[in-house]
Amino acid sequence: MPRTEPASAAAPRNDPEPPRDCPLCPRLVAYRAANRADHPDWWNGPAPSFGDPGARLLVVGLAPGRTGANRTGRPFTGDFAGVLLYETLLKTGFARGHYAARPDDGLTLVDCMITNAVRCAPPGNKPETAEEAACRPFLAARIAALPRLRVIVTLGDVARRNVLRALGLKATAGGAGHGAQIAAAPYALINSYHCSRLNTNTGRLTPVMFEAVFEEARRLLGATG
Ligand code: SF4
Repeated sequence: MPRTEPASAAAPRNDPEPPRDCPLCPRLVAYRAANRADHPDWWNGPAPSFGDPGARLLVVGLAPGRTGANRTGRPFTGDFAGVLLYETLLKTGFARGHYAARPDDGLTLVDCMITNAVRCAPPGNKPETAEEAACRPFLAARIAALPRLRVIVTLGDVARRNVLRALGLKATAGGAGHGAQIAAAPYALINSYHCSRLNTNTGRLTPVMFEAVFEEARRLLGATG
């Protein structure tokens, strides 16, 4: 069954979640319309953030994959990257239940929320600079709306530079390597290589490397209380 379409008006720019028919990126709106025409049973809208509204950990990805969150409506759900992400969150205590690659699998996040720097699926998983800028107010609002947030894990360069800019910092601030940390009071940022199929298949990112990022997040949360 196609999902119900909510109101199409644009959200206020301090809203952490864009409206289902957000009109701000013409290229992505056209892509959304094409996907709706081809697959009316898919979500085909901005992927809502998922997780605990009282989270102290925020995980920021790039953008919904066409057949992942764009299809299922839950970040990282239904595509390759989600398998490693949710398995790692389960292993490190930031998730509870069982990940079955569908939004009704009962999985819940614990002290953790997942969002994307760009909320709509871009062709080829590559958002344009203007699209990152258009969506950044939603990311800034998402961060601001988490009252207990302390640690932000960024998955890949697009997530890292948009979080930095959303926090009023230069996109080049801090280190860019896997595991690099940036202090952005009141938050600590940890960079991670993206858990994409390309990075894991080439060995650029291993499950051990990925788990270490979330163990470090856990350590930092323990330190901040
Ligand atoms: S990417 Fe963000 S700003 Fe652009 S149309 Fe989608 S929700 Fe709106």
